[in-house]
Amino acid sequence: MAVHAETILRNGTVWCGRLEGVAQAVALWGGRVLATGPDAEIAPLIGPDTRVIDLRGRLATPGLIDAHLHLLPYGLGMLQVDARPKNAPTLDALLGLIKARAEALGPGKWVLARGYDQFKLDVKRHPWREELDRVAPDNPVHLVRTCGHISICNSKAFELAGITATTVAPPGGLIEVQNGQLTGMLAENGRDPIRKVLPAATDEELVGAIERAGQYLNSLGVTSCMDAAVGMHSHFREIGPYFSAERSGRLPVRTYMCLLGDPGPKSIVPDCHRAGLVTGAGHDMLRVGPVKIFTDGSAGGRTAWMSQPYLGDDKTLGVSCQTGAVLDEYVMDYHRKRYQMAFHAICDAAIEQVLRAYEKALAAMPDADRRHRIEHCGFLTDDHIARMQAAGVYPAPQPVFIYDFGDLYYSVLGSGRPEASYPMRGWFNADLKPSASTDAPVCDANPFPNIYAMLTRKTHKGTVVGGQQALTIDETLQAYTEYGAFAEKAETRKGRLAPGLLGDVAVFSRDMTKATPEEILEGTCCDLTIRGGAVVFDRHGETH
Ligand SMILES: [Zn+2]
Repeated sequence: MAVHAETILRNGTVWCGRLEGVAQAVALWGGRVLATGPDAEIAPLIGPDTRVIDLRGRLATPGLIDAHLHLLPYGLGMLQVDARPKNAPTLDALLGLIKARAEALGPGKWVLARGYDQFKLDVKRHPWREELDRVAPDNPVHLVRTCGHISICNSKAFELAGITATTVAPPGGLIEVQNGQLTGMLAENGRDPIRKVLPAATDEELVGAIERAGQYLNSLGVTSCMDAAVGMHSHFREIGPYFSAERSGRLPVRTYMCLLGDPGPKSIVPDCHRAGLVTGAGHDMLRVGPVKIFTDGSAGGRTAWMSQPYLGDDKTLGVSCQTGAVLDEYVMDYHRKRYQMAFHAICDAAIEQVLRAYEKALAAMPDADRRHRIEHCGFLTDDHIARMQAAGVYPAPQPVFIYDFGDLYYSVLGSGRPEASYPMRGWFNADLKPSASTDAPVCDANPFPNIYAMLTRKTHKGTVVGGQQALTIDETLQAYTEYGAFAEKAETRKGRLAPGLLGDVAVFSRDMTKATPEEILEGTCCDLTIRGGAVVFDRHGETH
């Protein structure tokens, strides 16, 4: 009896992996790769029930792996009114969106919106409370600025929170009043009274958020991701919606759950450990990943911890979130409990602190292949790279930060440091297998600016930031597939198209191996996504 494939993609460029090279066709069976090869060699696998997809010269790759993003918060944000400049360039457009949402929800329901930037709005100012009242008189409205630190509310929201023009803002906060009237604007801790009355997301809403963000990832060719801080939004309770999403077929992407392990009450690790949730537990759709502690902030916000001062201020070194002693103690404990670790460290002083703690734990309890990671790992020295190589510690960078924030890095750090940041070439040379990721919602999960940045080291304004760190398209695809799998110890199960590996495939509208970086950035989209042999995204309905 002949073996017939369930699905065959043929007549294209099938990029199977950096070592595997390119084939014309790939056959899938039982949710896995059955074979790859020239069309003529794969043709005998076509049976009466085989679904044959004509690539027509397009590119198929292993499903992309976004090794660090925040799936659940991303999905929650997507439920809100999208007030980002590209969706709401004018004040009228923004108010129109809020009006439409209020009418759709009905009176009394909260209208949540996020992403406006007053500098990019036509009126070059924040919206006023009265303007929100006019379009949503019967709904409380909470509109968050793109930075996440400033909000605008309407009268109904203030009423529910008990805020009046004479309310004194909590310390570290602002409730703005002009001419004895609330303007609508609140900043930082000034929002505490509003936070108390904002509706908490139900478990069903959390499942919906996971599903929505996952479907969006599928539409980009992404079939796997790591949620880089499970517990950040709703503490240990967040684990439940992940399990229900998976059980009910509402988890669109394979998810590696990184557990928030910050010292103190924020950590969900004690609850997880008691429940047997250690690194590796689970299966190919949903697996327990590493533990995370935040050790610094962000470079653009001047809060990442540097050994040398930021530009224009000879004292500012950024923010250190943990003391070395506390960090060492937690690392030793997590290491002993057999967790992989994936600590957030952006600048060299934080990276030094984390790397030293990992080195101590690995020296005390050697483990040849634990693969502790450093998330972001943006600004580091050659000595750090050599020590990471010696200790088996791997970077989890976001090359797209160069595209989105590269110009900002020059303004806060001057020349020198940005060029050496996120050294993809340096990591490849040291065999540190850098993965690729977007940190969405920090950056959009769209892979094309990320690929463009790896190929060109260019910002969105065209500034070249350390061109010697640029990669080839083969290396770029390897980072986005095989090395993403390696980062979660899954490189023997996915990340390449080879017989027996998971049948995760992305089809792109253009053969990126032959395109210019600009064509990839501006003129490429994902046409088709297959996860475990099943079509999960089909832009043109070509598989019906
Ligand atoms: Zn993150």
